[in-house]
Amino acid sequence: MPLEIVTIPCLSDNYAFLAHDAQSGATALIDAPEAGPILAELEARGWALSHVLLTHHHWDHVDGLPGILEKHPAKVIGAAADAHRLPPLDQQVSDGENFEIAGEPVQVMDVSGHTLGHVAYYIPQSAAVFTADSLMALGCGRLFEGTPEQMWRSLSKLAALPDDTLVCSGHEYTQSNAKFAVTVDPTNTALQQRVVDIDRARASGQPTVPSKLGLEKATNPFLRAEDPAILAHLGMEGADPVAVFAEIRGRKDNF
Ligand code: ZN
Ligand code: FE
Repeated sequence: MPLEIVTIPCLSDNYAFLAHDAQSGATALIDAPEAGPILAELEARGWALSHVLLTHHHWDHVDGLPGILEKHPAKVIGAAADAHRLPPLDQQVSDGENFEIAGEPVQVMDVSGHTLGHVAYYIPQSAAVFTADSLMALGCGRLFEGTPEQMWRSLSKLAALPDDTLVCSGHEYTQSNAKFAVTVDPTNTALQQRVVDIDRARASGQPTVPSKLGLEKATNPFLRAEDPAILAHLGMEGADPVAVFAEIRGRKDNF
C-alpha cells in the first residue's frame, strides 16, 4: 500500500515531508528544518515518528532534529559520505542501497552537486522521491560543492524515474524559478501553462511542491539541456549537455 505523504511548510520557504503507513503506523520524516511545525503536524494526526531521513547537512534541513527527537526517539538515517557533518546517525546509507519503511523499499540515490554526499530517497511503491536541494520544482540547487557534471549526472538519474513520480523537493522557490525558466525556454507552451498555474497557486497561498516528474521533464530547464529549442535559443546547437547545463546554471546564478 502506498505511503501517505504530507507536506509541512517550515521556516520561510522550506518543506519537510512525512511518509506514513496507516497499517503499521510507521512514519518517516524527511528532513528536519524546524521542530515546531513538524511536531504540531505529528500531534494533530496522532502519529509517532519511526524514522528520520536526512538528505544533506545544511542547517535548514537538520537544525530541527534535536527538538524532534526529544519527543519522538526515531531512527535517524543519512548518507555515510556525509556522516561527519550530519547529526549523529543510527544508520548510514550509500548510493544504490535499499532499506525498508513498513516493508516498503526505500532506494538511496547519490545526487551530489548542491553538496557532495547529498542523497535522495526514492520509494518506488509510493511513486515518490525526496530530492531536497537537488532536483527542485522548476529548478535545481545551487552548486555549492559539486561540479556541473556531477549535478547533471544526478539530475539525469532522477529524470530516469517514472514520469508519475512525485518529486518532493526542499523549498518553495518555484515562482522565482519560473521567472528564470521562461528566459531560457521562451517558446515552451507547457512551461507557459505551468507559470500560470504557479502564479494562481501562490496567489491563493497554495504550495507548488511536490510536483510530478513528467511535468518537470517537460518544463524544468535544468532537465532540458538536450532540448533542441533550448540549444537553439542559447546558440549551443551540438554542445555537450554538461556544458549546456553549466550555461543554464550560470545564468540562473546571475539572474
Ligand atoms: Zn541545501
Ligand atoms: Fe535548503
